[in-house]
Amino acid sequence: MANYKAALDKDVTKRYLAIDQGKRTQAMYIWIDGSGENLRCKTRTLEEVPKSIADLPIWNFDGSSTGQAEGSNSDIYLHPVAMFDDPFRLGNNKLILCETYKYDHSPTETNHRKSCVEVMEQAKDEHPWFGIEQEYTLLNTGKHPFGWPADGFPGPQGPYYCGVGADKVFGRDIVEAHYRACLYAGIKIAGSNAEVMPSQWEFQVGPCEGIEMGDHLWMARFLLQRVAEDFGVVVSFDPKPIPGDWNGAGCHTNYSTLAMREEGGIKHIEKAIEKFSKVHKEHIRAYDPHGGADNARRLTGLHETAHIDSFSAGVANRGASIRIPRQVGEDGKGYLEDRRPASNCDPYVVTEAVVRTTILDMPLELP
Ligand code: ADP
Ligand code: MN
Ligand code: MN
Ligand code: MN
Repeated sequence: MANYKAALDKDVTKRYLAIDQGKRTQAMYIWIDGSGENLRCKTRTLEEVPKSIADLPIWNFDGSSTGQAEGSNSDIYLHPVAMFDDPFRLGNNKLILCETYKYDHSPTETNHRKSCVEVMEQAKDEHPWFGIEQEYTLLNTGKHPFGWPADGFPGPQGPYYCGVGADKVFGRDIVEAHYRACLYAGIKIAGSNAEVMPSQWEFQVGPCEGIEMGDHLWMARFLLQRVAEDFGVVVSFDPKPIPGDWNGAGCHTNYSTLAMREEGGIKHIEKAIEKFSKVHKEHIRAYDPHGGADNARRLTGLHETAHIDSFSAGVANRGASIRIPRQVGEDGKGYLEDRRPASNCDPYVVTEAVVRTTILDMPLELP
């Protein structure tokens, strides 16, 4: 596959982006497609700068081209749900996260936000907070990890996690650009680091309350894809991009309720872990878009994971399904870390599952 980014001169592009666009605003509508993993986007002009979601019109797209509808009845509705500043077009231009609805106004199969909002509404008095650690891998356009020797492998894992130096980390420009793009857009990005496998990175988003977790993580994924596109590099959210002795990629989900954060909260953390232990299989089905099949490649019991078939929990234990951070153990309050969600999980499905199990005592409704 040719690398077209190099063919387009970014300095030439800048000339056109510097043209005054007047009062009108460009709004890029963004949505999750029929894969439940990939994002799509398209742009429209708004005559005035939108101040809130209420100023944004419902729109539509051809769902037969995104795995979301048949050609004979193809229109899918886009309902704006969250608005962010656009770090690419700058000025008053906006990025608009949308939910997708079918012709009969029912949610599409991959619209898991609608039920997530309803569940978060029922649980709002507990103030559920989330912080997700999004791991991902940079690939060249030939789908080999970015910066790896053309036909082979780098030296074994060890020096790469939080590494520095041209032989330790690959693609830092993308990581830095993405971080600033997130800050500009208004994403609650919390940090970033190089991961255990070379060319694998992580960023964290949070703490976010309720539905905000899914909204901010999906938009942060969009920004990452969009930034990497500028560099001609591909982002993979596959949970085990390279088989063998290489770490997989997850979406560790840090979670607390108000009670867990208050004095003596550890009791509530332990209660939640007890509830998780009874529905491990159900959560595994919710923690990747293929009902556990993606995570089966990652959760092997090696490489800082617990085996997919067994549930475990422990203080500072990175080989457990659920880890209580050392500091939380010492303070006797704080949060827990669910290490099971895969890097390609839908955060709406994951956060809904966590709240159903730990707050609402309701069975999961699996996609
Ligand atoms: P790790 O040690 O597992 O690599 P990180 O530092 O990468 O952990 O991520 C920790 C995440 O936990 C951050 O996203 C942070 O926002 C989140 N977090 C911190 N406190 C809370 C809390 N009380 N409830 C939920 N999430 C939290
Ligand atoms: Mn981390
Ligand atoms: Mn990590
Ligand atoms: Mn973690």
